[in-house]
Amino acid sequence: MRTSTRLQAGFVLALVMLSLSLLLPMFGARWVEETQRHYEHAGNLIERSELLRAALVDGETGQRGFVLSGREDFLSPLYQGFAEVDKLMHELHAAAENDPEMLDDLKALKPVIAEQRRYFDSVIRLRRDQGLRAASDLITQGKGKQLMDDLRARVGEMQALHEARILLLEQRREWQQQMVMVLLVVIGLLDLIVIGLLFHFTFRILKEGRAARHSLRSLSEQLSSGMQRVELRNREISLLSRMAGALHSVNRFDECYSIIGRFAGQLFPCNAGSLTLYHPSRDVLEGVAHWGDWPEELDLFEPHACWAIRRGQSHQVLDTGKDLLCPHLQGSAMVESGYVCVPLMAQGEPLGVLTLNGLQAPDLELAEAFAEQISLGVSNLSLRDSLRQQSLMDALTGLHNRRFLDETLRRELLRAARKQSSVAVVLLDVDHFKRFNDTFGHEAGDLVLRHLALEMKRNVRTSDLACRYGGEEFCLVMPEISREDAIERCESLRLSVSRLQVRYGGQPLGPINISLGLAWFPQDGEQMDALLHAADLALYQAKRGGRNRLCVYRPEMDGAEEAPG
Ligand code: GH3
Ligand code: MG
Ligand code: MG
Repeated sequence: MRTSTRLQAGFVLALVMLSLSLLLPMFGARWVEETQRHYEHAGNLIERSELLRAALVDGETGQRGFVLSGREDFLSPLYQGFAEVDKLMHELHAAAENDPEMLDDLKALKPVIAEQRRYFDSVIRLRRDQGLRAASDLITQGKGKQLMDDLRARVGEMQALHEARILLLEQRREWQQQMVMVLLVVIGLLDLIVIGLLFHFTFRILKEGRAARHSLRSLSEQLSSGMQRVELRNREISLLSRMAGALHSVNRFDECYSIIGRFAGQLFPCNAGSLTLYHPSRDVLEGVAHWGDWPEELDLFEPHACWAIRRGQSHQVLDTGKDLLCPHLQGSAMVESGYVCVPLMAQGEPLGVLTLNGLQAPDLELAEAFAEQISLGVSNLSLRDSLRQQSLMDALTGLHNRRFLDETLRRELLRAARKQSSVAVVLLDVDHFKRFNDTFGHEAGDLVLRHLALEMKRNVRTSDLACRYGGEEFCLVMPEISREDAIERCESLRLSVSRLQVRYGGQPLGPINISLGLAWFPQDGEQMDALLHAADLALYQAKRGGRNRLCVYRPEMDGAEEAPG
């Protein structure tokens, strides 16, 4: 049963007990009064019986006096006694209305009284008519005495009956008084118990109320701190998703790292840190972004110097005195209050490490989510970059392709125009290349192309651009070079190619010759297409001139036949 229900029941019980406390004395008094009334009634009857006996004795005394004296005035006690007896008998009769025992006694008494009167009348009459002697003789017969004794005995019996009743009533009254007392004491005790229980339940309810209020307050505090945590998490999730969106749309690594640094500063405003990634050589990790007051000298370390990389899982240090410190952070004041290193993984391979200082345990989750987004962003960018690189490279020769040439040459010409410098553009084509294919097979032709590409790489400067233009045609872009140097470089390339001795399947493929056409920026064309067209015309001229040679574009070449494919 709930405490409040118990309390209600307790109040109802208390009301009942209080009512009993009020009613019991009232009913108890009435109960005792009733007995008292019976008691008084019995006493009254005894008194009246006593009076009756006295009146009967008075009657007898009057009769005796008259017999002895013969004087009429001696009869007055007799008549007064008779009147008194009638009156008392009437009263006793009235009082014994509901008392059959008493009525029986009275009924039995009545004929005896009447007999005695008749006897007295006969004695009185005899005294008047025949004198003392005759009356004395009648009295001497003892009938009067016998009647009187009988009356006395009957009245005595009545009195004894009432005295016995009085005794019983006295006992009953005492018992009732004791009973009422006991009941009052019991009810008083029960009242005390009920009041005690009421106190108990009331205090319990108050206590429960206090406890409920307390738990409600703590619940509301939990709720509000939970709400704050949710808000914080929402903000963090929104920052992470904004960062992921931004990383998705960048094309350059430096831009990507600067975005990561910016978002790290917002997500971990109290934690300085850095992002270190594997160098392409994969023997060292180098810092690409840092935030807070993270010192740059911590940004270069070997992979085995970080426990997160070695174990492939987050390494958190809360107590620098007890926990295992990463060697790359040892001795740094930056991590005195602890730190966490989270490995960045991409397709099961470690990509780098995210390090944050002073991080407390609950933020580890956020650091790991952040590291995951960084891994995704960086690996996506790497993938896109390598795809882009691949799309700009020729797979067979490893040289850049024509698409790359289009992008780069346009830019190179703009730069040269700005700097007012010159650019040499050379188109070169393998002479009778078809023969290699036809004689030795397509793969032998591929081998020739690869060797030619290697030779081109070997003969150009790092600032030059060597591309595969299509088929067995190649293009060389040489910025900021003099005409003489350009011609010399082309000649040297042609010669070194002609000296190549390529073997396929143990078989020598024979000499490889190339024809070259050179055009000059800005003299031969200011736009890329015009320039390439000029170089193509020069190449055509070289083919027409007998192949295995270099031709420099001259304006009169315009309008000549189309270059061979
Ligand atoms: P020319 O001296 O006039 O340039 O004669 P050519 O045989 O070199 O020129 P042609 O245009 O007649 O033939 C070029 C051939 O190059 C045709 C084509 O099958 C072949 N070719 C184009 N691309 C490749 C390639 O990637 N690998 C191989 N093996 N052959 C290729
Ligand atoms: Mg050719
Ligand atoms: Mg060709």
